[in-house]
Amino acid sequence: MNDVLKLTSARALRDLMARHGFQLKKQYGQNFLVDERVLDAIAAASGLTHSDGALEIGPGAGVVTRRLAERAKSVVAIEKDRSLAPVLAESLKGCNNVEIVYDDVLEVDLARIWKHFAEAGCEHVAVVANLPYYITTPILFHLFDAGVDWARMVVMVQREVAQRMAAPPGGKTYGALSVAVQYRADVQTVARVSPGSFLPPPDVESAVLCLERRLTTPVAVTDEAAFFRVVRAAFATRRKTLANALSTGLGIPKESALTLLARTGVDGGRRGETLTLAEFANIANTLVQPS
Ligand code: SAM
Repeated sequence: MNDVLKLTSARALRDLMARHGFQLKKQYGQNFLVDERVLDAIAAASGLTHSDGALEIGPGAGVVTRRLAERAKSVVAIEKDRSLAPVLAESLKGCNNVEIVYDDVLEVDLARIWKHFAEAGCEHVAVVANLPYYITTPILFHLFDAGVDWARMVVMVQREVAQRMAAPPGGKTYGALSVAVQYRADVQTVARVSPGSFLPPPDVESAVLCLERRLTTPVAVTDEAAFFRVVRAAFATRRKTLANALSTGLGIPKESALTLLARTGVDGGRRGETLTLAEFANIANTLVQPS
């Protein structure tokens, strides 16, 4: 393990990047963490032990990666920017349980990575990431839709996105992302993070969230694809009433949308943002029920 480099020191990080002629790229969301306190909070929230695997998205200069390597049995980190290779070679020198995959996380076959963790004998796998903010939501959906068995996700996201992920029904921040996250996980805020914790500082405030995978879903859903179709339709046009939104989003006549809602006891004049997970499940289960 490389003991000399203190990557949370902005100066040491700048020197490391300069040694390898590395220039930060704004278009890749490269705001590197330089706050030991936040790093400690992320590591603690990961709950990783030496029998676990860790998937990191966007290792950057390796500050989080090194911490994960100390705690986990096996670490896989996916980085899009190949020009970070010499930087990571130096910062991760001696970390023999780390594999870097240079690729776009959205293109990576996550099932193959989970196979690697299984072959390494990992009991649980946690996803830990200081996410590139320009693609936070696509990355979360890529992980959700991959069908892989993550136990926990500890993610740094823009604070406004964190609020959307944790939002209860009824407010402006509650949307399809809130439902998608809360259907699968229990959400806790680990830390609020200010721009000064990064090099360079981003224009937005950030937060670290911990998503603890639910062992059973909070509501009974007969057909998940139908459930998420209803959710997407309900939020696609937020100003429309639920009956109109479902009619447009599901491609059914308004009369059918009203009948569907009447069968579930949900008022078609409501807006999607007022519906609980249980009400979405009820509508979706009724939709796929043979009449
Ligand atoms: N983990 C480092 C840290 O905390 O300092 C870097 C975090 S930085 C916010 C985001 C990282 O994600 C960058 O290293 C960036 O190059 C990488 N990245 C951006 N888009 C990506 C993509 N599509 N797939 C994989 N990595 C990506």
